Amino acid sequence: MKLKLKTVFLLYFMVSLMGLVYALMQLGQRCDCREHDLPKDRTISQLRGQLHKLQEEMKKSEPTKASKKTNLPTIYVITPTYARLVQKAELTRLSQTFLHVSQLHWIVVEDSAHKTPLVRDFLAASGLTYTHLHMLTPKDRKLQEGDPSWLKPRGAEQRNEGLRWLREMAAAAGGSGTPIENAVVYFADDDNTYSLQLFEEMRQTEKVSVWPVGLVGGMKFERPVVENGKVVRFHTGWRPSRPFPIDMAGFAVSLKLVLANPEARFDGDAQMGFLESSFLQNMVTMEELEPKADMCNKVLVWHTRTEKPKMKREDALVKQGLGSDPNVEV
Ligand code: UDP
Ligand code: MN
Repeated sequence: MKLKLKTVFLLYFMVSLMGLVYALMQLGQRCDCREHDLPKDRTISQLRGQLHKLQEEMKKSEPTKASKKTNLPTIYVITPTYARLVQKAELTRLSQTFLHVSQLHWIVVEDSAHKTPLVRDFLAASGLTYTHLHMLTPKDRKLQEGDPSWLKPRGAEQRNEGLRWLREMAAAAGGSGTPIENAVVYFADDDNTYSLQLFEEMRQTEKVSVWPVGLVGGMKFERPVVENGKVVRFHTGWRPSRPFPIDMAGFAVSLKLVLANPEARFDGDAQMGFLESSFLQNMVTMEELEPKADMCNKVLVWHTRTEKPKMKREDALVKQGLGSDPNVEV
């Protein structure tokens, strides 16, 4: 009985061992899997076929897409900007609006003796098509600490530098070509608020297009008054007799008109409220203005102004040598 049990165990052990050895040998071997791989192969080749078709269709549709894109008039946006605590915040807000606008070329003009690393790095990472320029406002034309903001025009030299670049670029391109034909120039300060609709309104501009500006000139809005499709006067609370009582944010000019008027520029010495007129008055008449934004019934841009941040606590900490790390860009 004892012996029999031992034999049974031995037999059982031998059979299990053989089974294990066989299983291990099978593991490393290629099987003849043709049979059950056939449906898989068929699916793969079907998918390949579909992919090829899709690629062909994409190739076919690409030229039409590209030509549509380039047919859209380019909007050149000129933005003067200067170093201050809120600069990066302003540029961030602005750039993230512009990222939603097609065919937009941002011309950023720093009011500084050199291009700053902050703006340079910011633009490089912005994802926008841009040109980075700089033009320092001469000291006698610049607002000094404590001056009321209306005392001197701001951003005039920088806008002129943007215009200079545009004229030079156009001359280099021979005055024709897609970036120039039908292109539009808009002056967008870095602190205003722009709706996306505004850019589609200005995109078709023959000479000068105009629209209302919200929260400006001590008013809820200022606007050109339109009768029978034409601008007949301006709704403003101050000196409506100015040639063009329009805020900088309230008009766009065709690049063609800028090129046809090589002398047109902003007069940095212009009297308060006359900066826009100094640029527009020899280029266009009131009757020629093209009213946009539902015949100037919609506010699509706001002359917002950013509060200067208070640095009381920072200054106190700096005195104790505990100021915020200067290596962190704000
Ligand atoms: N600006 C500038 N240098 C200055 C002050 C202002 O380049 O010394 C720019 C500013 O960044 C803005 C535009 O000029 O894009 C208009 O300035 P601001 O917004 O201060 O004018 P406001 O709204 O008071 O008319
Ligand atoms: Mn402003």
